[in-house]
Amino acid sequence: MNRETELQHLGEEKSGTGPVVPPIVQTSLFVYPDFDSFWGTMFDHSADNERFIYSRVGNPNLSVVEKKLAMLEKTETCKIFTSGMAAITAGILCSVKAGDHIVAVDTMYGPTKEFILKWLPRFGVTHTLVTGNDPAEIEAACTAETKLIYLESPSSILFRFQDLEAVARFAKSKGIRTMVDNSYASPLFSQPATFGIDLIVHSATKYIGGHSDVVAGALCGSREHLDAMMAEEGQWLGALLPPFPAWLLMRGLRTLPMRMEHSQRTAFEIFEYLKSRSEVDEIFFAGDPDHPQNDLFKKQMSGATSLLSFAPKVQEMEKVKAFVESLNLFQIGVSWGGFESLAVIIPAHPMNWSEPRWVVRLYCGFEHVDDLKADLTQGFEAHLA
Ligand code: PLP
Repeated sequence: MNRETELQHLGEEKSGTGPVVPPIVQTSLFVYPDFDSFWGTMFDHSADNERFIYSRVGNPNLSVVEKKLAMLEKTETCKIFTSGMAAITAGILCSVKAGDHIVAVDTMYGPTKEFILKWLPRFGVTHTLVTGNDPAEIEAACTAETKLIYLESPSSILFRFQDLEAVARFAKSKGIRTMVDNSYASPLFSQPATFGIDLIVHSATKYIGGHSDVVAGALCGSREHLDAMMAEEGQWLGALLPPFPAWLLMRGLRTLPMRMEHSQRTAFEIFEYLKSRSEVDEIFFAGDPDHPQNDLFKKQMSGATSLLSFAPKVQEMEKVKAFVESLNLFQIGVSWGGFESLAVIIPAHPMNWSEPRWVVRLYCGFEHVDDLKADLTQGFEAHLA
């Protein structure tokens, strides 16, 4: 069956009568008639255990979403968490121990970078940062202690790609685990497991939730990896998602394909519009046909998504700030993936730039594209001309 159909039905048991929408199973625990069945369930830590004991480690509302996400990501299984960061930290912590080394891309999401650079060293886990632009650079950064290569493709703000297939092939030959943050691409437009990546993580707060009303995360991968994670970090860190936000994710997933298609159309139009503006110095957009890594875009992604950034020619912070503050439809705010268009200013300073630059990241929501262009035009003319 096609993904659009699966998103409406997969994992939702229908008896022929009853509510068309699965109910919220708002319970902290599940009861059993005898101890044999209770213990049988209790000590089954498999990630897709369908018998439930306690909602901290599993609940029917979570299972529905996990099945749909594993289907989209083409992985054996998935677990959903209270946030993208909870999924990221569980995925990293189940992959390394004291004495291990991580190779990570320097343009990854800020709090993930802080976790790897500031928190993990307290527990004896070291790291090397790479631009990620060339698989040879990643290979050269690996040591005998490297146990994890952490990627984000496309990466935060600048939409850089890593060659997932080349990195996964090298990592497998050395027994190194690979993990990629796929939040920017969405599970609809990229399936890193098909290139051999082991763990795929999402901020489900973004496209998957899709309505700016839920914070959640997802970790997808093989049964082997996720069962091991559920026997330890999944249990001990206690960060799996409660039933109600999981139910909201199920609702969000139903319309993911329509939302992604619509908003990427808007983003392509905004991209063309930005190209026509003399105030814009450089545009960063996954779908840019002149992107230096367009071959990787075509190989690894089936859509461009609805995020893009640009560096204005005028680099005075006060002017860039005034431009963003003057926008009426692009609201000032982090995150993305909901109905509303958003803008933020970031002082981008990746490893291979000698100077930092102010970059404006735009998320294109569901407002009419002509209104969004008019909004940007008045801002450009007033503050950046
Ligand atoms: N990964 C990326 C690329 C993000 O942008 C974010 C949040 O903005 C996260 C992960 C963290 O997700 P969450 O905010 O759901 O914890």
